[in-house]
Amino acid sequence: MSVINTVKKIYTNIPLWLTNSFAPFYYLIPETKRYGRVFETQRRYLKELELLSDSRIEELVNIQFVNLVRHAYENVPYYHNLFDEHGILVSSFKDVRDIKKIPFLTKELLIKHREELIATNIDRKSLQYITTSGSTGNPVGFYVDSDSTMKEWAYTLNLWERVGYRPDSSRLLFRGKTFWAQKNKGENWQYDAFRRELSCNIFDLCEENLEQYCQAIEKYKPEFVHGYMSAINILCKYIEKRPGGLRHQFKAILAVSENVLVAQREYIELILNSRVFSFYGHSERLVMAGECEYSNEYHIEPLYGFAEIVDRNGQTINDDSTGELVSTGFCNKGMPMLRYKTGDMASWSQKVTCNCGRPHKRIAGVHGRWKQDILVNRDGALVSLTAINMHSDVFDKILRYQFYQDTVGEVVIKILPRIGFNAVDETKILKQLNEKTQGKINYKIELVDQIPLKKNGKYTIVNQQLKV
Ligand SMILES: [Zn+2]
Repeated sequence: MSVINTVKKIYTNIPLWLTNSFAPFYYLIPETKRYGRVFETQRRYLKELELLSDSRIEELVNIQFVNLVRHAYENVPYYHNLFDEHGILVSSFKDVRDIKKIPFLTKELLIKHREELIATNIDRKSLQYITTSGSTGNPVGFYVDSDSTMKEWAYTLNLWERVGYRPDSSRLLFRGKTFWAQKNKGENWQYDAFRRELSCNIFDLCEENLEQYCQAIEKYKPEFVHGYMSAINILCKYIEKRPGGLRHQFKAILAVSENVLVAQREYIELILNSRVFSFYGHSERLVMAGECEYSNEYHIEPLYGFAEIVDRNGQTINDDSTGELVSTGFCNKGMPMLRYKTGDMASWSQKVTCNCGRPHKRIAGVHGRWKQDILVNRDGALVSLTAINMHSDVFDKILRYQFYQDTVGEVVIKILPRIGFNAVDETKILKQLNEKTQGKINYKIELVDQIPLKKNGKYTIVNQQLKV
C-alpha cells in the first residue's frame, strides 16, 4: 500500500494542528513512495507516451481496444450475453474501427444490468462503488477499480503540468468538498499543510466569509485555485470591489466539474490575472481530455478511453456538428463500459493541428452539461448546485429530480421516484442537503409523476424563478 493510502486511513482522526506540524516531514518522502507503485508506473507511462509517434499511439489504442473487447466477452456476463445474442464474434475485432459492431450502453441499461457488468475475474472487494447524483439530474451507480483512483491522479497531474502544476504544489480549494475541521471548529475555511490545501466552504459565499477567504489567501499564498467556475466567479465579483483587490498572484485556475463559459472564463482570468485551465472527464473513467498550453480545446488522452460523437440515430459524426459523446473507457477493467452514452453533447474540432503538436483528437466544446445552476440561501448568498451534487446510494431509487425555487431560502425538490422509494429515503436526502447547506435553505420534497422540460426541450436541474 502506498504511504498516502496508509496515512489517509488514520488522517481524519488526527487534529489539524498536529498533521500540519508533521506535514514538512511528509514532503521529505520521495514522490514515488508517497503515491505508490500504481501512480508511479502510470506517470512514467504517460511521460513515455508524449514521445511516441502518431502511428505508434494508434497501434497502442488498437491493442488496448481489442484486449478490452476480449476481456469483456470472456469475463463480463453482460457482454458475453450481448455478443452472443447479436452474433458478434470477438475474433472479428481487428482494430478500433470495429467498435461500431457493439451496441450502445445507456444509463438505463447500466442501472438494470449493473451486477452483470462486473468482471468475474476481478476481486469484488477491490472495487469501489460510486453513485453520482449526476449534474444532469439522472442518478446512476457503478463500480471502479481501486487502482483507477491513482491512475486518475497521474492523468490529472499530467494535464495540470501544462500550466506548471507539480505534485507538491499548493491549492486554494473552492469546490464542493466538506472538510472535517469545519465540523469540529465551526470554521468556514482551513489550511491543511499536509495536503497543501486552503479549503473554503463554498456553500455559504456571503461577503463576510469571502473577506475571510481573501485574508487566508493573502496569508497562505496557494499557488493554484482548484474549483467550480460558478463559485470562483462569485469570489471574483467580491475581489473586484474589495479595496486593494487581491495582492496574491495565482499561477493558474484549475476548473473542475463544470462547463467553462467563455464570458465567465474571460472575467475570472481578468480579475485574477491568471489562466483558467479545464479538462473533461467522468467518475466512470470513460474519457479524459484536457486543454493544452496553447488552446482551450479538449485534447483526448488516447489511452485513457476512446471517444465517439454520434447523432440522434446513433450514426457517427465526423464533421463539426454537435452530437452525443459516446465513450469506451480503457482504465476500469472491473466494470468495463463499452460505447457508453454519456448524455453530454460535444463537437469535434475542425482545426487540423494544434500549436502544441500533440496528435490527439480534440473536442471543440462540450455543451449541455454542467449548467451554471444556483440556489439562494436564507441570507441571500448564492450556492452553486455543483457544490450540492451528492454522491449517495439513495439516488438509485430516483428516476429524475429537480430543484424549484421561487422564494429566498426555500427550495422544493421535485422527485420522480422509482419503485421502492420511501419516507426513509426522503429523510436521508433532506439530512444530506441540510448538512451541505448548513440549514440555510429550507427544503421540501414533492413526489411528482413528471418533470416538465424547458421550451427548447432541454431538461434543467434547477427551475430557478428568482433573479440570480
Ligand atoms: Zn494543443
